[in-house]
Amino acid sequence: MARKLALVGIGKIARDQHVPALAGEPAFALAATASRNARLDGIEGFADLASLLDARPDIECVSLCTPPQFRYGDARRALEAGRHVMLEKPPGATLSEVDDLAGLAAARGLSLFATWHSRHAAAVAPCRHWLAKRRIERVEVIWKEDVRRWHPGQDWIWQAGGLGVFDPGINALSVLTAILPRAVHLAAADLMFPANRDTPIAADLRFSDPGGATITAAFDWRQEGPQSWDMRIVTDGGEAVLSEGGARLSVDGEERAAGPNREYPGLYARFAQLIEAGECDVDLSPMRHVADAFMLGRRVTVEPFDW
Ligand code: NAP
Repeated sequence: MARKLALVGIGKIARDQHVPALAGEPAFALAATASRNARLDGIEGFADLASLLDARPDIECVSLCTPPQFRYGDARRALEAGRHVMLEKPPGATLSEVDDLAGLAAARGLSLFATWHSRHAAAVAPCRHWLAKRRIERVEVIWKEDVRRWHPGQDWIWQAGGLGVFDPGINALSVLTAILPRAVHLAAADLMFPANRDTPIAADLRFSDPGGATITAAFDWRQEGPQSWDMRIVTDGGEAVLSEGGARLSVDGEERAAGPNREYPGLYARFAQLIEAGECDVDLSPMRHVADAFMLGRRVTVEPFDW
C-alpha cells in the first residue's frame, strides 16, 4: 500500500518535479502540504509543518523542498515525530546540521535521504562504468547558466547559506563525485562575489587527485546565450563528454548513452527502497567540496548584481 507523504515548501522544484514524480510513483501518495503561502489543488494544505505533523499522524514521510537555510528545523521536527525524511539538495546549510539529522534518523530507526537529483540523470551511471576501466588524465567541468532565467526573483540564493552559483554547481559536484573511481579534494578556488551579495556569482575550482588527473570546474551564473552543464573527460581510452547535466554521454564524438529526464522518479523510487530496507542515504561529499571552497577560496569582488 502507498505510504502517505507530505511535501514541504511549495515553490518551483516542488511544482516542476516533485508533484509529477509522486503522481507516477505507486509507493507514495501525496497526502498534504506545508507551505506558508502556497497550496496544491485538491491536497490538504497547512501553513507550517508543526501543524501538519500534529494533525496528520497517518503521514509517514516528509519531503522537504524549502531552501537549504530554512530546512534543518523542519527536518528535525519530522524525525522527532517519527517520520521518514527526504531532503532536496543541498541537504542543509552546514555539514554539521546534516550530520545531526543523520544521527537522529539512525537513533530512531528512520530513513533519511539526502538527495542528489543529477546523479539520477540517464548517462551518469553509464559514464561511471565507462570510466572505471580507464586511466583518467583530465576532467573539465563547465557549468554555466543564466541566473535570471533559472532562478528569477529567488532572493534566498543570494543570502548567506544560499550558496549562490554553488546551488547549480553542487549538482556538477554530485555528478563528479559519482563518476570518479576515487575521492579527490579541493586544492584551490577563486570565488567571485558581487559587491552587493553574500554568495558568489561564479567560481573556478581546481582539485587534487591522488590518481594524478588534472581536474577543474568553472561555474558561472552570468552566462547568456547557450547554457552549459557539461564535463569533458580525457582518458587513455578516449575522450568522453558528459553533457546536458548528465543526460547524454558521448565518447570520441559517438553517442554512448542518453535518455529522458527521470531524475525525480529515480529519487522517489530510491526513497521507497530505503524505507523498505530501513536504511539512510546521506552522502555529503558534494557539499564538503563546497564547504572547502568557501574555506580555501580566494575572494574576488565583482560587479554588483541586480535582477
Ligand atoms: P523556491 O521556488 O524559492 O521555493 C521554495 C519554497 O520554500 C518557497 O516557495 C517557499 O514557499 C518555501 N519557503 C519556506 N521558507 C522560506 C524562506 N524563508 N524563504 C524562501 N522560501 C521559503 O525554490 P526552489 O527553486 O523550489 O528550490 C528549493 C530547493 O530545491 C533548493 O534547495 C534548490 O537547490 C532545490 N532545487 C531547485 C531546482 C530548480 O530548478 N529550481 C532544481 C533542483 C533542486 P512558501 O512561501 O509558501 O513557504
